This record gives sequence, structure tokens and C-alpha cells, in this order.
Amino acid sequence: MNATIRFLAGFCRDHPLDEKVFVCPSFVAGRQIGEALARGSGSWINLRFVTPWTLAGEVLERSGEAGTGKPMTSSGELALTDRLFRQLLAAGELEYFGRAGASPGLVHAVYRAVRELRLEGLTSADVRPELFLVERKGRELALVLGLIERTLDAEGLLDAASLLARAARVAGRTPSSSWTLSPADARMSRLERALVRAAAGERLVLVPGDPVVGLERPRRCWSLPGPADLSEAGRLSWLFAPGQAPPRSKEAGIDIFRALGPANECREILRRIYAEKIAFDEAEVLTPAGSAHATVFYLFSARTGLPVTFGDGIPVSFTSPGRLFFGLVAWLAGDFSADELCRLLENGDLVLTAGASGTALVARTSCRHLRSAMIGWGRARYLDRLRALRDGKTADLEAPATGEDGDDGENGDARRAGLQTAIAEIDGLTAAVARVLKIIPGPDAAGAFDFRVLCEAFSRLIVDFGRAESDFDGRARQVLLDRLDEFAAESRFPPLPLKEALDLVRTAGASLRVGASPPLPGRLHIAGLPSGGYSGRPVTFIAGLDEASFPGRGLQDPVLLDEERTAISDALPTSADHLRSNLFGLAAVLASLRGRVVLSYPSYDIVDDRETFPSSVVLQAFRLLRGDPDLDYASLEGALPEAAGFLPGGAARAFDEADWWLDRLTAEARPDGARTVAANFPDLAAGLAAAGARAGDAMTAYDGIVDIGSVREEIDPLAGRTAVMSATRLELLARCPFGYFLRHVLKVQPPEEVALDRSRWLDPLQRGTLVHEILCDFMSRVAEKGEEVAAVRHAPLMARIAGERIAETRRKVPEPSAAIFESERRDILETLDIFMAAEEKREDKGRPLEFEKEIAGETIAVGEERSFRLRGFIDRVDRIGPASYRIIDYKTGSPAPYENLVHFGRGRTLQPALYAVALEQILARERPGEKPRVAESGYLFPSRRGEGHEIMVRGFDRDRLRRLLGDLLGLLGKGYFIAGPDAKCGYCDYRAACVSGGPAVSERKREANPGIFEAYDRLDEYP
Ligand code: SF4
Repeated sequence: MNATIRFLAGFCRDHPLDEKVFVCPSFVAGRQIGEALARGSGSWINLRFVTPWTLAGEVLERSGEAGTGKPMTSSGELALTDRLFRQLLAAGELEYFGRAGASPGLVHAVYRAVRELRLEGLTSADVRPELFLVERKGRELALVLGLIERTLDAEGLLDAASLLARAARVAGRTPSSSWTLSPADARMSRLERALVRAAAGERLVLVPGDPVVGLERPRRCWSLPGPADLSEAGRLSWLFAPGQAPPRSKEAGIDIFRALGPANECREILRRIYAEKIAFDEAEVLTPAGSAHATVFYLFSARTGLPVTFGDGIPVSFTSPGRLFFGLVAWLAGDFSADELCRLLENGDLVLTAGASGTALVARTSCRHLRSAMIGWGRARYLDRLRALRDGKTADLEAPATGEDGDDGENGDARRAGLQTAIAEIDGLTAAVARVLKIIPGPDAAGAFDFRVLCEAFSRLIVDFGRAESDFDGRARQVLLDRLDEFAAESRFPPLPLKEALDLVRTAGASLRVGASPPLPGRLHIAGLPSGGYSGRPVTFIAGLDEASFPGRGLQDPVLLDEERTAISDALPTSADHLRSNLFGLAAVLASLRGRVVLSYPSYDIVDDRETFPSSVVLQAFRLLRGDPDLDYASLEGALPEAAGFLPGGAARAFDEADWWLDRLTAEARPDGARTVAANFPDLAAGLAAAGARAGDAMTAYDGIVDIGSVREEIDPLAGRTAVMSATRLELLARCPFGYFLRHVLKVQPPEEVALDRSRWLDPLQRGTLVHEILCDFMSRVAEKGEEVAAVRHAPLMARIAGERIAETRRKVPEPSAAIFESERRDILETLDIFMAAEEKREDKGRPLEFEKEIAGETIAVGEERSFRLRGFIDRVDRIGPASYRIIDYKTGSPAPYENLVHFGRGRTLQPALYAVALEQILARERPGEKPRVAESGYLFPSRRGEGHEIMVRGFDRDRLRRLLGDLLGLLGKGYFIAGPDAKCGYCDYRAACVSGGPAVSERKREANPGIFEAYDRLDEYP
């Protein structure tokens, strides 16, 4: 039994029938003390546990003052401070604090300072400007405090300080007959102490804790009437005076370890519990405030079902409603970014349902449609863009198939069914998104938001679209709703700009915790150092004792500096007091523990890749353990075992599968992990076989050498009519046959989703399409009039067309900012000027004849009576002589890749020659009697980089083209889909999914497979 329990046991024995009230920091702590008392001394009666706040409520109730004011919660106090701070700011009275505006951080810091002043019984009159290093700050702090005091009075509100003060004032009127017991080591504010004293009257009993030898008691503790009784003290009472400690026979079991980071520290705790077969409910883990350890245990628990209770609860942001709450704030703050919305959907925190049926929409599908709709951001774009997406799908459904692979028969039915499904999904999604948007209020005429309405909207969204499946989630939802209600009720300020309103909403959810629980049977208990140590369990782990976390860095409060605190009142604790208090608090907890105590610290910061060092407490424990007060950190370092890391050090110590596997894979008699995996997981076995094959020299199916026999009709354009080729498709085959295999044989489609970029308006593809459309439209109109392009004369026409098309594109793709849009718009106009200048300068003008001319399944012969079908569109056809034509394709990118183009670009640039052959055949049919000849075919580069240059293919050998096509399609026919030895993977849509190993693997296998590479290398012979 520790000193507190021993004293309580004796007191209850001596005063069994008297009413006794024990003032403790929380009900969770009170319940544990009550249980420890029952365990230690049997039954007890007439003992109640109260906190200072409930004691104040009881006193007011007893004296008939309960209805004279409205008690506030801490969030209500914060909201009030925020409101009054803004009020003073708007009135121009906060020059010092107002420099940074009413940021949540600043308001919170002011709130903390005000609360601390008030709990010490200080008023605005005590905050004298001349006591501050910067007088202006003191004056403004007094102004804020004064306004808070007046507002509390005027509105009949009771913040914590006024509640305690009022209760202390009236307590004497109706003296209580109970004994009031208060832990002597409790660190209380002046008003809390005053209340306890007043409520107790003559019947105040200070309950001694276990003595702490060698440390000064903090000023906030009760003063002890005499020296502490050391007769029953455990050895840890001498933590800070190891030289005076009694002989080691009274030694408590103390153990110390270190670990590589907090996660491994937590793992090591669990490993020790497993290895030593300690029941979960025989151990408690204490961690310093703000450390990551509780989070780690929460994640372990969520992942593995580890039974845990959290004395301080968990942050609300760990729960689904919490993630939804903060995600919605981020969504609105990011101008309704579709990415943020998708994140919420994909995490499952936001659940959209299909209309009245209430069936949840599939998140992945919804996100796919949201991204395909190219919403980007902007509230107004959601419904418009979803409708446009629907219209597009409807048009596709009604239009005849134009896909490269055709859609006759089964493919066509599947395509139509797919489109119909997509349309139904988009309809459901549109309705659901409309319901969400309808709840979110818009700005008023001045662009500001009514904060109360915004809070109500968040509440509705959490209720209507949130998920609360676990107990933690249910509590988090309720606590968020309560907090939002409270903030909404306290919001009496004028409408706020969105950023400020959202900062305030975020503040409402910040620091909320849920699920605080006393230790329960069968569960490991995790508690913070200030609030734990009451469980009376036989094993206590105290984790996170590195020098940065404990006793803390001793940073000064940013609003009330130490010097200012000392000047205002000796009751205000300084940063040094806080450090001392933390140290004493830990020493008191340690002294009170019975049984085994294990101290630990993270000795390495894995994220920052640097060593971390133990707190002085660990060194003291080491000195006490060894009975030598002169030992230093070097001795500690030398004596501790190696830091616990990722390896559990034995299967019996493994906490989870990862631990077990790591142990097995590093054991002396190492198992054949790969063989075991392969034997048990067929898919992984296939993957291992593939990896093995790729690692060898032979070219195998895993390198793209496949037997296409059974599907030849479908995929070989020379063997069947199904595969319809395009220039792009043939060029992909030449550049990287493996990429062709993925796209056109396996039909792996890159994600449809369109990611919009906040740093640019249009991506290269969108920009190219826009310029194509403008040029096509412009040239069609010029040609209709039978005119030649003249820059000056046609500039207005070009400007008008460009303006219309740019505006149309702008409706589809949102610009991140006016400046970015303007910069890109100017760039496009410059491209159009370059185009007109190039056209004007053109020597052989010819006559533009057709634009966007379709090649609809043209049969292209490759010799030996073989042929394939070709599809495509020619940007522009000029007539440059009798039966002589020119093909121009506009390219907005760089001309660099085409600089060495002669005719076929080593088979990689086939479009000019292919289109020439196809056009000649088409024109021959369309113009009977004419023997049309395409004299030049190529690209015009109207961009700044291309400077209006043209790269044209002229006089190529048609027979050679046929041989080239035969060789190229021969690769396909043989099933040689190797990764192109000079493929540019950096620009490939499949780079994230490609498993071929790319050009490097192809090069490595070249020597052992000359036949395959010879077939591919033959393409190089076509310049
Ligand atoms: S990533 Fe490289 S090797 Fe793979 S398909 Fe793309 S271009 Fe070919």
C-alpha cells in the first residue's frame, strides 16, 4: 500500500460513518483510488470523490447560489476570449497583439494567460502595464482581461475562476459536516486551494503522499505541518537523494531500457509483457504529456485488437468523426478542393448515399468520377462539371463507336452497359454532392460567413454524412456536436471572412479527447504522467523519459514572460516552476508506486536520424538502482543493454506478426522465407517466379516474350480485322513494345482521373488541344473566304476565336489564380502570333483544303498481300500543286525529338509517312481520275520553343515504309513485346505500374538473346 491508500484506509477505519469527500484531479483518478483502497483495506463507506469543479458546484447548490450564473466549459471560455479579442481588434485597440491578426494560436495563448491570471485570483487591476517588458503588451492584456471580466458580469457567465471564487465566498454560509480530504502533494491554483479550504472549514485533512526526498516541494502544493514520515517509504522516495537511500534490502524492482524511437519503445514494453507473461491488467504505462507513446498504443490497438484503456482518452482527430470534422475544414479552406473531398471519401470518413435508398456510394467509384469531372476546386464547379461529365457519357452512349479497337458485338454491349452504369453512378453522386453543398452556407454580400450557421452546418454534415461505428467514434461524434453547439451559442460576432471562421471552427475541435477510461479488467492501461499512477497495478512502465520530453524544455509563456509573472504576483508560476513541478510530480508518482517499475527512453530519433539522450530522472534511477550517487551518464550508457529495436529478440517476445516474422527471418537457423512464402501464397509464388525469370538472362514471358497464338485474331492487325491501328499506336509499338503490350494487349488503362495542378492552368495535353482547336477553327474560316493568312488583317479574327475557345476551356478547367491564367493566356496568344507569322512567311503557300480530315479504317498494305486498318485525323491538308498535297500537324511541344527525322525516325516517327499514304488513297477515291501525291508531310511548331519552324518528310520510299511496317508488325506477330531499349520511361503513363525493368533490363539481356533484339534493332535502319 502506498502512503495515500494507507492514510485513507486508516481514516476510513477511524471515521467509518462520517461523510468524507476526497478532492482528486479527475473522476478517473478517484475511481482508481477507491478501487485501490478496497483492494488494500477491504470495504469502505461514506467516501466520495470530487474534483475542485464539482466541489464548487456542490457548494453553490448547498448555499442556494446554483442558479445565479451560467457555468462555462473551457471551450466556452476560449470562444468568449476569441470573440472579445476580435472585438478589441476591430476597434483598433490591440496594436501590439493585433500585428498578427486574430490567429488561433495567438488567441489560445492569450486565453491561457488570462485563465492562469484569473485562477490565481488576479484581476485586470493587477496587470499593470509598467510591470511588463513592453508596456503596450501589458496595457492590452489588461484591456482584454478587463473586458472579459465585464462581459462575464454583464452576461451572468461563470468561468472556472469565477465559479471557484464564488463558491469559496459562499462556502462559509452553509458549513459542511463532511471531512474534506485533499492530497497534500496536489498542485492547485490559489482559487482552488481557497475553495477547498473554505468548503472544508475546520474539517480539512491533508492526505500525505509518499515522501519525496531531495526535491523541494513546489509552491503550489499544500504546506506540510512537519517532516515527512519515511518509515514506510519505498526506495523510489530517494530517487533524488540516492546517497541517503536506505540499504538495498528495501529496493523496489527497478529496470531501465532504451529503444530506437517511441514505436520500438512501446513494442519493447509489449514484448516484455508477453515474454514475462504479465497479464494486461497487471500493468500500467505512464507517458509524459504530449509524447507520441499513447498514439502508438492506439495504433497498435486499432491494428491488432490489443486491449487497452486510455486514462486521458485519445485525441478526437484519431476517430472517424474527428477526421471528417478536420477534413471538412480543410476542404472548405482549400476552396472545396476535389482532392480533399476524395481523401475523405477514400478514408471512409465521409459516406455519400444514393438518394432515399440510403445505399452508400462506392468511394473509389465516386472519386473516379469526381476526378474525371475535372472539378479541381471551387464550390460552383461541382454540379456543373458532374453534369458535363454525365453529358459526355450520354453522348458516348448515343454515338457510334470510334474507339481504336472498335466496339462491335460483345465489346460494344459491354461498353454500352459500362456507360449506362457510369451515368447512373454519376447521377447518384451528383445528388449526394448537391445535398452536401446545400448544407454548407455561402458568404453574405460582403463575402463573410455567419459563424453560427457554419457551426450548424458542420454539425449536420457530421450527423448526416459521418460514420461512427466504434465506441470511440460515437463519443467523438457527440463531443464534437456539443463543442460546435457551444461555439455556435457563443458566436455573437459579426460575419467573418472564411479563413477566420474556419480557424475558429478548427479551434473548436482542437485539443478534444474522447474515451478517457479508468483501468478495466483484461486491459493494459495507458495514462499521462500527471494523471496516472493510481491504478495500483504491480508493474508500471514509465516511457518517453528522454531529456527533451521530460521534464520539458522550460520554454517561457509567450504572453506572460517569467520576469513579468514574478513582477505581477509570486503566485504565478514561472517556466522554472513548471519544470520543478513536473519533476516533483514524477518523483511523487514514482514514490507512490509499489511493485516493479520499468523506466525507458527513446535513444534514437529515427525520423531525424540522430541520437537522443535520457532525462536526468533516468540517471537518478540508475544511481538509486546501483546505490552509487556519483555515477554519470557514461556509466549509464555503458551499463544499459543495446537499444531495443525492430527485432524482438525471440519468438516468445514477438508482439505481432511483423515482430514474429522479423525474428524468424533473422534467427540463427534461418528459415527459407521465400520458399515458405511461395508454398503458402500462390500469387506471391507467381510474383517470385516472375522476379526470378526477370533476373535471369533468358527473355521469358515476364519480359514480354509471349505466345499470342490463341488471341492472334484479336491483337494482330495483320491477322484479323479487330485491331485497328493508329499512328500513335504504331509509334508506341516501335518505342516500347512492352508499353504496347500493357495498353493494347492486356488493355491496362492508365487511371482516367484528371489531377488538376494548382501551379498551372493547363497541362501540355490540354494546352495542345486548345491550340489545335483554335488553329483549326481559324484556318477553316480563312480558307472559306479564299484568303491567305495575313497577320495584321487576321489578328482580330484570331483574337476572337482564341477568346471564345479559351473561355470555353476555362469553364472546363479551373485556373488556380488570375495571375497564372493570365500568364498562360498570353503564352497561348504568343503561340498564335507565331503561327500567323509563320503562315505569312510561308513561301509555298498552297491552298488549305481540309482540316481534321478523318482516316476511317483505311487499309494500308505492308506487302506479301498483307494489310491492316488505320484510323486517325489529319490536322490540315493543303493543296500545293496539281494533284500535289501537303499534310501539316500542329505541335505545341518542342521540335527537339524530331530534329533528326528524315523519313521514318527509326520507325519511331511514322505519322508523316503513314498519313501521306493514307491520304493519297483517300483522295484517289474522292477525286477519280486524279493521281494525288503527298509531296510533304510533317509538323509545324508554332510555340516559342518551336519558333514557327516546320519539320517535313519529303520523297520517302513507299516500298520502304511497307517493309518497315512489316518489320514492326512482325514484332507483334511474334509476340516480342520487349521493353524498348531506348524507351523514355520518364514520360510513360505506365511507369508507376511497369514491372519490366525498363531499358536497363533489356540491355542486360541483349547479348543472350540476339535473335529477338535483331528483329527490334532492324527498325533503326529506317532513318
Ligand atoms: S515504363 Fe518504360 S519500359 Fe515500361 S512500358 Fe513504359 S516505356 Fe516501356
